[in-house]
Amino acid sequence: MGKKTQHCLLLLLYLSGLVHCSAAFVFWTAMVEISYVNNNNETVEKYCECGVYGRNSPLEKVSGVVVVPKGDPKGCGPDPVYNRNFSSPPWIALVKRGNCTFSEKINAAKRQGAAGVVVYNEDGKGNTTTHMAHSDAAGIVAIMIGNTQGMEVVKLVKNGTDVNMAIELGSPHGPWMDTYWLYFLSIAFFIVTAASIAYFVFISANRLYNLNMHRRTERKLKSEAKKAIGRLQVRTLKRDDEETTSDSHMCAVCIESYKAGEVVTVLTCDHIFHKACIEPWLLERRTCPMCKCDILKALGVEEETKESISTDSPPDVTVITVAGGDTLYEVPLTDPVSPDPERHQHRYDNRAYEEDLEATRG
Ligand SMILES: [Zn+2]
Ligand SMILES: [Zn+2]
Repeated sequence: MGKKTQHCLLLLLYLSGLVHCSAAFVFWTAMVEISYVNNNNETVEKYCECGVYGRNSPLEKVSGVVVVPKGDPKGCGPDPVYNRNFSSPPWIALVKRGNCTFSEKINAAKRQGAAGVVVYNEDGKGNTTTHMAHSDAAGIVAIMIGNTQGMEVVKLVKNGTDVNMAIELGSPHGPWMDTYWLYFLSIAFFIVTAASIAYFVFISANRLYNLNMHRRTERKLKSEAKKAIGRLQVRTLKRDDEETTSDSHMCAVCIESYKAGEVVTVLTCDHIFHKACIEPWLLERRTCPMCKCDILKALGVEEETKESISTDSPPDVTVITVAGGDTLYEVPLTDPVSPDPERHQHRYDNRAYEEDLEATRG
């Protein structure tokens, strides 16, 4: 046998187990019809879906005259005596719940020749029923009805009335109809919903927090950039300036040549741009468009901010040194104002650039 076939068989067994298991939860109601002739010689017929087939009962219909046991209404013991008319089979035994097992009652009535057994509930149970388990008494229709209905029929039979009963299959009911099952489903639904809402709230709060932090950082960087822009050299170009006379000079932002009378900003790296072009750029990026020089660092604005932060809470710093023992650069491990890695990158780029400059200067 191949491994695949074995797996298929196991799956089938598992599924059949599930079906069997769910079948144990499903119960069938019984339609119960009683008819008798009352004192006024009128035929009375009553019909209700008020019975429940026992777990081990065949789901078949049965009818006959209702007979109750003599003496003990519970029909226990090996041979309970039934007040029955031998000339008119079939008959249905009507017994009360209690004293012995369902199987014992049903088997005793079966031995006496009953076509079916109706067990009615104990006193004080109203019209409630249970799903009887009677594994030792299969092969005979057995249903359970409520105490009120059972007592009503018992009273008629004891008064000498011939009561005919017909039992038919009603409808299936599963765990979905059960109150406890409904409670369980409601609680499970509530828990899942609450967990989903909590998760959603947590995610939203986290996003809001991150967004807030990002905005705060952006605002801080912008105000730093504004401060730095205020410190940059600004001049108005004249007719005989080198920038206006030579075509090789042009603003790298708008790609246009300079004209006399235009206002330009000189960055710390000595690169020149139109004031109107470079200011929005610096507010967003804080670096020279041509050489990536970080103006915040070059003007010491970032250091000022860092110092003001370090007085509040000194950040952890990892010092990286080169073989000569000189500090190469300091990496703040927790930088509360600049979680943006791009910003660190600029600083390092700039450091590298500055060192390159120093190297070229000799
Ligand atoms: Zn320009
Ligand atoms: Zn530059």
